[in-house]
Formats: sequence, C-alpha cells, structure tokens
Amino acid sequence: MLVVMRCGATDRQIQGVVQAITELGCEARQLHSAQRTTVNVVGNDERIDSARLASLDGVQDIIHLSQPYQQASRDWHPVDTVITLPNGLKIGSDAIAIAAGPCSVESEQQILEVAHAVQEAGATLLRGGAFKPRTSPHSFQGLGARALEYLARARAATGLTVVTEAVDPESVDAVAEHSDIVQIGARNMQNFSLLKRIGRIKNPVLLKRGIAATITELLSSAEYILMEGNANVILCERGIRSFDPGTRNLLDLSAIPRIQQASHLPVMVDPSHGTGVRDLVIPMALAAIAAGADGVMVEVHPDPEEALSDGVQSLYPEQFAEMVRRARQVASAVGRRIASPAPAKLGS
Ligand code: PEP
Ligand code: MN
Repeated sequence: MLVVMRCGATDRQIQGVVQAITELGCEARQLHSAQRTTVNVVGNDERIDSARLASLDGVQDIIHLSQPYQQASRDWHPVDTVITLPNGLKIGSDAIAIAAGPCSVESEQQILEVAHAVQEAGATLLRGGAFKPRTSPHSFQGLGARALEYLARARAATGLTVVTEAVDPESVDAVAEHSDIVQIGARNMQNFSLLKRIGRIKNPVLLKRGIAATITELLSSAEYILMEGNANVILCERGIRSFDPGTRNLLDLSAIPRIQQASHLPVMVDPSHGTGVRDLVIPMALAAIAAGADGVMVEVHPDPEEALSDGVQSLYPEQFAEMVRRARQVASAVGRRIASPAPAKLGS
C-alpha cells in the first residue's frame, strides 16, 4: 500500500502518517520525489485500515498495489532506466553492451589473455567468476579473492568493465571493490538477505533469473534491491529449466519484451547458460539482440576443452569475434548499435 502525500505536505503531516503506520505494526518507508512524498507501507498491509490513513492530515490518496513489486514497474517509472558505468558505457541506451569472458577465472594469465581477445573483438564488459556457485561441492569452486585481484588487473590492462558474482553477504564488499557490476546468479535470485545487502552497495547489479522463476518473481527480487536504495539493476534472462535434455536450459526470449512491458529496468541475455551448447550460443545471441535485449553476456575461453567449468558452452575467441561481427549487422537492422569498447590501455 502507498500513501501519497499532497504536494507541499509538511514534515509534521508526513511524520503523522509514519507514526500511524508504525503504530499499526508495519514499517513506513518514505520516498521523496521533486513533487511529493509517498510513504510505502512495508509488512502485512492487509491488516491496516486504509480509511484511517486516508483521513490523516496531508494525505492525498491511498494506492492499493495489485503487483508484488512497485519500484521495478513501468507504472512507477515510465521512462527506461539507463545505467552509466565508470568507463562511460550506458546500459539501456541505443548501444548494446557485450559482456564476454570465461565462466571461471582460472589464472592471471588466462583472464588477461581472454580480456585482450574479447576487447579486440568488440566486448565492452569482461565477465569471469571468482566465487562460483556450483551444483556439486566436488566441482571447482573458483579462486575466490585471488581471482578478484586478477580481474582488477585485467580491467586496468584493458579498460573493460568487470562483472563478477557475489555468492554470499560476506563476499559482497570484496566483490564490489574489485569489480564494476556485481552479479547475483540464478541460484541466488531469491536469496533475500543477499538481495537486501546488495541493495546497499553503490555498484550496478546484474540480477539473473532463477532457473524456475517467473518474470513476476524476477521483478519482485529486483524490488528488494531497489527498495534498499540501489536503483541500478540490470535484469538477465539466462534460461529456465525445461524437459528437453537437448539443451541445458530453455532460453526464454519472450522474457525480453515481457520484462520491457512490465519494467523500466534494462535487460540482458546470457545464451551460454541459456542453452549450454556452444553451437547454439551465436544464433541465440543474435536473436536476443533482434528481440530488443540491451546486452548479451557470453562465455569465452581460450581453450574450452581444458576449462575448469562450462567448457562445452564456451565460445572459442575466434567464434566470439564472428559473433560480434554478426551482432553489429543485427543491431543495425533493428535500429541499434553495438557499444564501442573502451580504448586499449597503452603498453598492454
Ligand atoms: C554465471 O554467469 O557464471 C553463472 C553461474 O550463471 P547462472 O547464475 O545464470 O547459472
Ligand atoms: Mn558458467
């Protein structure tokens, strides 16, 4: 429930509403815009008598919410959100961002080699897992903090923007410090304490769709981050679980326009996890761009056969270069363009 205050409502009137909500056992969160203040009732608002709030001084309107999310919705924010990254790249603009890199950071040499290769081919973001959420505890779990250092060096050497995953609240600060965009993986999409923690950092967040999550659930998870004050959320379609063992997941490309109708947040697509099959990655990346995605993220490895994770879905560097060439053509056919990479650092 939202309590919309009149334009020019006084602090006393706003505090009166906050106090009434608190006395009724809910939390009151104030949202200030240029025109007015709105007070969001957080908690079980069904037990609140809205007529009582409506009668308070300075209250203009009470809005009963029909959706489990508000700030993530287009009703709340009709204009597309554009997220500006430290290197000037704007996600959600006419320029489509391409993120590429290995599933896992395996060594300093590996990440530097991939970073240079994908930058030369036209990537603007470097991906690479330091902390890996693996289905089996026997699988490679990532190099952890050491990998964050390597990613930071690859960023310094290339100027690429780095995206890497935080898997628990304990690693959030280290990940945020050494990267530009913090990823929340599919398995953690509904880890609400992690989402709240992520909502309190400054970095943009790449929130991946859970393997069995609806779009409404994805947007509700984004809402947890937005409500803590972090407005820079990028959503990511990465495939959902299906019955066909021919692919790892079923990449839901209809999610792109569905999200864009329901929300103002930018949307990226990960066809690597979305298909799990190397030869399907390029066609699905191109289809994602044709369907209006604001970015694509793919796994690239210099030697996929030897990769410590997800080698079967990783592109060879030359395949990635081919993908970018074709992506430029598709982007131009739909009136967009592929974002330009940052200039390579001198001496690298
Ligand atoms: C990843 O991008 O490294 C990853 C683990 O993806 P997902 O969370 O989508 O499985
Ligand atoms: Mn992977």
